[in-house]
Amino acid sequence: MKIRTRFAPSPTGYLHIGGLRTALYAFLLAKRLKGEFLLRIEDTDRERFVPGADVSLMRVLKEMGLEWDKVKESVIGNQESGVVYQSKRLDVYKKFAEKLIAEHKAYYCFCSKERLDDLRARQTAQKLPTGYDGLCQNLIVEEINEKKKNITPVVRLKMPKTGACCFHDAIRGNIEFSYAGQEDVILMKSDGFPTYHLAHVIDDNEMKITHVIRGEEWLPTIPKHLALWEALGWEKPIYAHLPLIVNPDKTKLSKRQGHVAVEDYLNKGYLKDALLNFILLLGWNPGTEKEIFSMEEMIQEFSMEKIHKSPAVFNTEKLDWINGFYIRKTPLNLLVEMCVPYLQEKDLIGERYDKKYLEKIVLLEQERLKKLSELPELTDYFFKDTVYDKNLLLWKNQTLQEVATILENLLKKIETITDINFNKNYLEKEILAYVKECNLKNGDVLWPFRVAMTGKKASPGPFEVADALGKERVVQKIKNAILQVR
Ligand code: GLU
Repeated sequence: MKIRTRFAPSPTGYLHIGGLRTALYAFLLAKRLKGEFLLRIEDTDRERFVPGADVSLMRVLKEMGLEWDKVKESVIGNQESGVVYQSKRLDVYKKFAEKLIAEHKAYYCFCSKERLDDLRARQTAQKLPTGYDGLCQNLIVEEINEKKKNITPVVRLKMPKTGACCFHDAIRGNIEFSYAGQEDVILMKSDGFPTYHLAHVIDDNEMKITHVIRGEEWLPTIPKHLALWEALGWEKPIYAHLPLIVNPDKTKLSKRQGHVAVEDYLNKGYLKDALLNFILLLGWNPGTEKEIFSMEEMIQEFSMEKIHKSPAVFNTEKLDWINGFYIRKTPLNLLVEMCVPYLQEKDLIGERYDKKYLEKIVLLEQERLKKLSELPELTDYFFKDTVYDKNLLLWKNQTLQEVATILENLLKKIETITDINFNKNYLEKEILAYVKECNLKNGDVLWPFRVAMTGKKASPGPFEVADALGKERVVQKIKNAILQVR
């Protein structure tokens, strides 16, 4: 049988890290087993619906390389895009809800919110399990028709109330749930929309989904879903519940703490391959030391058996490390293109810029850059005069006087070097010889030299920086430094 997985986001906002992981795992499983990966937009919760969220979810999925399959035959949904929108299938859900009612497996419920609130309060006061008491279950046809004149009912599934269900989760293994205390779950709401419970079962059946991969938060609702598959008389798919993603302090990674939207990470300058690689390892590992995976390798090596049961810790340092790795292996010209928007955003460069100059600058930082958004701050001195505390120019116990003299002499020396010779190796040879001649220590000259150019405590070495800046800028920056200390 052909494997078919799906990603079924609710369009309630941006695609977040947890959603991306679900999509990635479902995608990898399908691709590994030469199956199909489908997309369904679960837009039945009208209160939480955010217009445009579906479009942005799809854009990010595509950008991340997780393109869904457009299965033509025997699948519901838009034939062009391959996407299934639940809001376009209301009549289908209604039909099945009515079928369940006709078979006495579900019933209309007319109870008001006030009655349900009151019921809950009483149950809580008596320390009883809370939940619907089944009042409407035994209404006769005449009563139903009468009530329907004034009230739009919901539809509830008659849940088993005794016994247990044994369920095999592809990640967690066998789990037993008791049916005791399971309330009759709502299948159709009074607004005519189905609940997730009903809609996902019908759609997964009609889309011929073989593996439902979803977040652990759905695990407690499994008894309802099993009862529903049973009531509809369909063979259920394999369910796999992914572990939670938590912060290093073990709190749940949530929107409230910010930075869970995938787009935020892309905007911060995490490379998409690095982000995918990091997400892959959030709850899965290959059982070896290997940490870097290309998309092909992910597809080849991914397996459900190696998904963890315990929560996955979102470790930003690890993400930075992986991103640094990907930055280092990006070809320079491509990396420059990726960096341009970040430099433009900080007004360090305009629409037109000197590509060769940028290449030199980016090359200097490529080794230690963790994310592209750091580049403007690390390299601002290449584009403008930066402001820094003049005392930063002092090496150890130097005085401002001494530094002024050192910089003046250094300037003279530098001015003698021709443009042709103005490169890292030549500068290094000449300036180190000059330091020796003057009977100084390297730090006495190189520290003020480097700070005069960069205005920073830490940066690449002075000869590389000077090489990239070019003679004219170096001379100007040393002159500026002298003005400050004189
Ligand atoms: N719409 C659900 C969610 O976003 C999907 C759960 C599922 O994959 O079945 O959590």
